[in-house]
Amino acid sequence: MWQVIGQSRAVTLLQRNLERGSTAHAYLLVGPPHVGKMTLALNLAQALNCQEAEPPCGSCDACQKIASGKHADVQVIGLNSGGNSNDKPRAEIGIDQVREVQHSSSLPPFEGRHKVFIIDGAELMSTEAANCLLKTLEEPAAGVVFILLAANDGMLPATVVSRCQRLELHPLPISQVEAVLNERRSLERQKAELLARLCHGCLGWALSAADDDSLLQRRAQLIDRLLDIADGGYEQRFDYATQLAAQFSQSRSSVQEVLALWLDWWRDLLLVKLGRHDTITNIDQETTLVDMGRGCKLAEVKSVINGIQAAGQQLKQNANPRLVLEVLMLGIPERSRV
Ligand SMILES: [Zn+2]
Repeated sequence: MWQVIGQSRAVTLLQRNLERGSTAHAYLLVGPPHVGKMTLALNLAQALNCQEAEPPCGSCDACQKIASGKHADVQVIGLNSGGNSNDKPRAEIGIDQVREVQHSSSLPPFEGRHKVFIIDGAELMSTEAANCLLKTLEEPAAGVVFILLAANDGMLPATVVSRCQRLELHPLPISQVEAVLNERRSLERQKAELLARLCHGCLGWALSAADDDSLLQRRAQLIDRLLDIADGGYEQRFDYATQLAAQFSQSRSSVQEVLALWLDWWRDLLLVKLGRHDTITNIDQETTLVDMGRGCKLAEVKSVINGIQAAGQQLKQNANPRLVLEVLMLGIPERSRV
């Protein structure tokens, strides 16, 4: 039983590979964060090692061990794995981690039929690590399967991508996420609807947010800050740009998260101004959005959206974060004027 939801194309292909005994030596699962890449990778590892007639059964010894991360032949490699002695989080998957994989893949399976190496965030491999992996992919050992997970496979060397069977995972429709939330979690209807919209089709995020209130609390803080900035003067805006730029050097993803929330918010403003209230993401903030929308011109809202998109792109291209974020802040219409 495949656990991943809504990825029928990828599942059908993998199922067919398994039935024909034509499993690839390496798969590349591509899709946005929390869309189901890890769930599908673990399912495939289960299917390859399952002891029952219809793999992955989910309940045999092998399937259970893999689900709980205790199977000796299934390894997950990522930023948080691999004997990181100084407690600093890794910024990239290093050559030391891939060398260990290379060595381990040369040994026969310990308890299962296949050795499976799941590389989470494969695009975060250092150049040396990617080159080392390439050598391993070029000379695959029998029974070894690599599963690379990436949100952006454009950042992976083409030589690595070409060695893998590429499968794309797509965001789910809002209605499907809502149905799963209602089935698996007992949430109020409004909360399920809100999470289904906020996750942009990435079910894993919605499930995490249903279990962990801190995700919605963080969102509330970011919205408060956004409203403060929209009301505030230039000094406050520049302070926020400086703060975000400093944050960017520590954690790029946390700043990308702020920009994603800003983009949602200003897109919602645009939709509200166009009378498309039913399509907004922040459905619990409709009153605030309508109020704010009254004070902004449509062209101004569009210009902020373009500014946020440009800032996100420039940050990915390693532009000076402080400059990028200051320009973004300058582009926000002044509330006193509107
Ligand atoms: Zn099984």
